[in-house]
Amino acid sequence: MKRYSAFAIAREAARYHTGWERAWRSPEPKSHYDVIIIGAGGHGLATAYYLGKNYGITNVAVIEKGWLGGGNTGRNTTIIRSNYLQDPSAAIYEKARSLYETMSQDLNYNVMFSPRGVIMLAQTEHEIRGYQRTAHANALQGVKTEWIGPERVKQLVPIIELSGPRYPVLGGLWQSRGGTARHDAVAWGYARACSDMGMDIIQQCEVTGIDKSGGNVTGIQTTKGAIKCNKLGMVVAGNSGHLADMAGFRLPLESVALQALVSEPIKPCMDVVVMANTVHGYMSQSDKGEMVIGGGTDGFNNYTQRGSFHHLEETVRALIETFPMISRLKMLRHWGGIVDVTGDRSPIIGTTPVGNCYINCGWGTGGFKAIPGSGWAMAEVIATGEPQGLAAEFGLNRFQEGRFIDESVAAGVAH
Ligand SMILES: Cc1cc2nc3c(=O)[nH]c(=O)nc-3n(C[C@H](O)[C@H](O)[C@H](O)COP(=O)(O)OP(=O)(O)OC[C@H]3O[C@@H](n4cnc5c(N)ncnc54)[C@H](O)[C@@H]3O)c2cc1C
Repeated sequence: MKRYSAFAIAREAARYHTGWERAWRSPEPKSHYDVIIIGAGGHGLATAYYLGKNYGITNVAVIEKGWLGGGNTGRNTTIIRSNYLQDPSAAIYEKARSLYETMSQDLNYNVMFSPRGVIMLAQTEHEIRGYQRTAHANALQGVKTEWIGPERVKQLVPIIELSGPRYPVLGGLWQSRGGTARHDAVAWGYARACSDMGMDIIQQCEVTGIDKSGGNVTGIQTTKGAIKCNKLGMVVAGNSGHLADMAGFRLPLESVALQALVSEPIKPCMDVVVMANTVHGYMSQSDKGEMVIGGGTDGFNNYTQRGSFHHLEETVRALIETFPMISRLKMLRHWGGIVDVTGDRSPIIGTTPVGNCYINCGWGTGGFKAIPGSGWAMAEVIATGEPQGLAAEFGLNRFQEGRFIDESVAAGVAH
């Protein structure tokens, strides 16, 4: 595939943009692959990419029931941070964050990574203690974060109201190299790189069954026919329970809708990401000028991929306390995605009760930031057949062993 570059833009401008190639091929499925990944979201595509890049495994198909990136990967609010409490989480999220730093160069695709900084506001005494503890844990883990006082918060976010009618801003956990990236571009960049390695990305192809023999996976049934494989990776976020059911095992997670909304575009007014977990809302400003706003999950299980009005009201009402200026903004659109949430708010990456069948799920409300690290770890698990490296602690067996990776403070409600 031809490289994207400033020179390529100039060349194409000179010939009226007639020379651009399709970013990825749209092939029909072959009858057999070494590895099939179900789900062309960021995590599935990153898994395929690192299988090729790190292990030279390129006879790979990524099967997608809709269009690539059309699941949660294209629906999130793009926050990237790695200020988690537990060591295994900090390791995988920091690996992901560091891979984001060079992703545009690695993929030769501009993912618009913007390390503008993320603040998690402390608005209660309890949150102060929690975030100071996380800052200490991060120092030991080599993740650069710091506890900052209210004056520094105001300096970083001039539009913030520190005194607040219900909860004053008492400080915050600041990660200066956290930020955002363009979510579709992450999926598109990985897809293009995978296609370039000869992998097949098959869209509009729903997996309807898992074929097994002697306790091992042998292939899948799809709306485009049966496809055989040596190894299978399930990376389907909110649909993980269904896919596990097809394979004959159960997962300790539930699927709920999470939603977000954006305002009309306004002039630049906030150049960091702010998360207010006590009142429960978070906000950043997109490059277009829209205020990108997210809240919490629905309190009941569902698969609707839509927003609900009561959450919009709750989220906006909460944020107006901390950012009174948004009361005058018009909201343009809202949407939802289905997230899969585990009891300890940590992902599941590893082997399953079915032979040669691997799973990556449970990223809940915060898996966009993890995409490169998750793909890196999942590729290692699939290539070696062993849950090791960054994935070692995230196996399904931790729920049987009571070995939880409790991130409910860092990940339970935020993103
Ligand atoms: C509103 C919202 C805001 C969020 N904000 C953030 C944020 O700010 N920061 C952050 O880090 N995370 C955030 N997240 C979470 C993040 O988006 C997800 O954790 C992440 O995108 C999951 O990626 P994925 O690749 O696992 O899943 P997806 O992108 O959902 O991909 C899974 C794919 O599997 C496909 N699939 C499902 N079933 C089948 C089948 N039977 N056959 C074939 N294909 C199938 C789906 O169509 C889908 O494309 C947010 C999520 C939402 C919904």
